[in-house]
Amino acid sequence: MKKWVAIFLSLVLAVCWLIPGGLAEGSEAAGDNETETAAPRGKVVVLATGGTIAGVGDPGKVTGYKPGTLTAEILLWGVPEIDEVADIEAIQVCNVNSDDMTAEIWLTLAETINRMADDPEVKGFVITHGTDTMEETAYFLNLTLKTDKPVVLTGAMRPSTALSADGPLNLYEAVCLAASEEAVGQGVLIVFSDRIYAARSMSKTSTYSVMAISAGEVGSIGIMRDGIVHLYESPSRKHTLASEFDVSGLDTLPKVSVLYFSVDADPGLLRYAAEHSDGLVIAGAGAGEFSLEWIDIINSLTIPVVISSRINDGIITKDNLLCKNTIAANTLSPQKAAILLRLALAKDPEISQDSLEELFLQY
Ligand code: GLU
Repeated sequence: MKKWVAIFLSLVLAVCWLIPGGLAEGSEAAGDNETETAAPRGKVVVLATGGTIAGVGDPGKVTGYKPGTLTAEILLWGVPEIDEVADIEAIQVCNVNSDDMTAEIWLTLAETINRMADDPEVKGFVITHGTDTMEETAYFLNLTLKTDKPVVLTGAMRPSTALSADGPLNLYEAVCLAASEEAVGQGVLIVFSDRIYAARSMSKTSTYSVMAISAGEVGSIGIMRDGIVHLYESPSRKHTLASEFDVSGLDTLPKVSVLYFSVDADPGLLRYAAEHSDGLVIAGAGAGEFSLEWIDIINSLTIPVVISSRINDGIITKDNLLCKNTIAANTLSPQKAAILLRLALAKDPEISQDSLEELFLQY
């Protein structure tokens, strides 16, 4: 008798799973029209690179953890709500503290996204990343990806084992944004604590807060609420399909060093960096200024020198420059100016000062 009950139950289960969506979903969807049920969901590719979002530490604690520990699959498993948004393909690109990010990993990310973006099934991409250098990876990809499909970076300030870990909601919102029509053609975006940022203007501005990401005077360009995208602005500087930078076939980038000026800053550091780099970026004081000693050395250099500021907000233009052979970073932070200079030198190692000036006005 038991055997017949088991066979009967197996048949019922089999029939339920053969009906698309299974028994539970089937009954919920009973009122839906056919077009909605049959609509293709599309795929979001999640590229995991590590960071605090994949960090593990002492239960409840927010410090002293190891970033880049959990895999992409485990991160996704922790947010089952994502299943309702899109089909997911998870790729573990690396699993590092983002202070160990490299140009080689950037090139792998660019190559992977550029290749997979041709797949019509793929709607968008999410990159999980440590917050320390997220702004650099985002800006690099913003200048080198050849797609208008959404590419969204996210991370966390609290490890997965902390009380009120912020990673799961950030990951959910990133997938929703990457699957959205609103994010198409906006360049590389960042979603963090419900806010949407454009790659060029976003930076990390707090060492501890869950609101650690901001965009200074430019501000965020949108807001996420319960998975819904509310976008208000579009980035106006050149990016992705309009960008002239093509990194296909490259396996590394030219070396650009960033020098931070402070009172009595050792001119020897500047000389050393100039001898061992293809270009320099100076994080000057105020509107990109530095001492008379530094002016003398910089005046004598023949490699490109871009002048940025150690201050977060503000602009540096040609009229601010202390040395005629330098290029103004405009509003780019020193670390982002270094990326644009590396790409410019990769395209043309002999690039002229005029052409560099033009690039820093366009990107
Ligand atoms: N240093 C770590 C990283 O960038 C922690 C910062 C974070 O992920 O929030 O990977």
